[in-house]
Amino acid sequence: MSTIFSKIISGEAPADIVYKDEHVTAFRDINPVAPTHILVVPNKFISTVNDLEQEDAALVGQMVLAAKKLAAEEGIAEQGYRLIINCNRDGGQVVFHLHLHLIGGRPLGPMVRRLKTD
Ligand code: AMP
Repeated sequence: MSTIFSKIISGEAPADIVYKDEHVTAFRDINPVAPTHILVVPNKFISTVNDLEQEDAALVGQMVLAAKKLAAEEGIAEQGYRLIINCNRDGGQVVFHLHLHLIGGRPLGPMVRRLKTD
């Protein structure tokens, strides 16, 4: 069940950590797609959005509020940014420890690329 993100949270693996509190840890994505690309991760292990329970509602709120604070610190709050949570195969999830992508610092284009079959 343990992923690289659990090791980053515990300090066993290196990361460029930009924020940490009792609920979440945030660090820069190792393969950024924009000038700001930060991952906000719950300290508690949750694999995917599908595994969230009602008791996790406040934790999800903490993730979003941490992203809001980091967007302001990164200086991208006014021009805007995108928050993304990928889930499972079609969502493009690669690391199975829930995480919120905070992406910004350039125009991000359409939310999802249209396919000819859409
Ligand atoms: P997802 O596709 O939503 O599961 O996103 C996983 C993200 O984690 C990708 O954007 C990766 O670049 C990022 N990532 C994987 N390993 C690390 C790591 N050790 N430190 C920082 N980011 C990572």
